[in-house]
Amino acid sequence: MVLHSAAHSRRQLLKAALGGAVGIALGATVREAAAASAQSAPTNILPLADDLFVVRIPGEANVVAHTGAGGALLVDGATAGASDALMNAVSRLPGGGPVHTIFNTHWHAEQTGSNERLGTAGATIIAQENTRLWLTTDVTWPWNGRRFTRAPKSAQPNKTFYTTGELASGVRYGYIPDAAHTDGDLYVHFPKQNVLVVGDAVSGEGWPVVDYATGGWIGGIVGGLQRLQTLADAQTRIVPGRGPVLGLADLKAQADMYATIYDRLTQLLNKGRGPGEAVAAQPTKEFDAKMGNPDEFVRRAFESLWGYLSPDA
Ligand SMILES: [Zn+2]
Repeated sequence: MVLHSAAHSRRQLLKAALGGAVGIALGATVREAAAASAQSAPTNILPLADDLFVVRIPGEANVVAHTGAGGALLVDGATAGASDALMNAVSRLPGGGPVHTIFNTHWHAEQTGSNERLGTAGATIIAQENTRLWLTTDVTWPWNGRRFTRAPKSAQPNKTFYTTGELASGVRYGYIPDAAHTDGDLYVHFPKQNVLVVGDAVSGEGWPVVDYATGGWIGGIVGGLQRLQTLADAQTRIVPGRGPVLGLADLKAQADMYATIYDRLTQLLNKGRGPGEAVAAQPTKEFDAKMGNPDEFVRRAFESLWGYLSPDA
């Protein structure tokens, strides 16, 4: 975990502005926060700069909020069930205001749950074109039968792109075409703050989800990690969809690990093995102590090869 900041004093100021600290519910008194944490952990705000924050609602994916004169820009919007809590937290950020822009790093419900309210309110919803397409159709995940119905028009991205783009504020964004997690993954780069937000293309917390139903695959995890390293330097803070803020060395270590696993899985595929045999072969065994039970990941990663490497694909 890298929490580099050149502006230590700025962080101190922020801590004061946040009413006591990182880790205490925004705007709440200490007593209220203590009461709240007795029921459920409070929303946690991690400042990355004086105008850039990671908003962490327990159980939800990371949301990054950039505040400025015109209001707030978000990268991802939590689930619909957490949208009220998210908007509440964002409105209380230093310099916070109405959300004028939201990026969807990909189409999943954990990222797009605030689209409808924000789209209805006139916000710009930016996504890679493939993400918009997934949100305009019904999707069923074959591995668990979970079904997602298409988003209403107001919740669909209203500004899409294919490769890269830049906002007037200097915020840059781009497609991660490797299909690390889905085939619509994007990153958002805040050059001034040296922060790179990468959604679920990178997992900061255990084995990743490989959504091969919408294009993701294990080869894309490796490719995405290699590509994202070219956008970062040793001081860049990298915010994944889940888990703590990462650094360049973390991306490199992950890229090496997934390349090893990718090689082993492709060898198994080429020998005609199936997903159950891939799990039994323990292709992740030296990483499991750190990463946790790999069985679901290995099965899904192996199945993801079919769409890309099978002779009849
Ligand atoms: Zn996802």
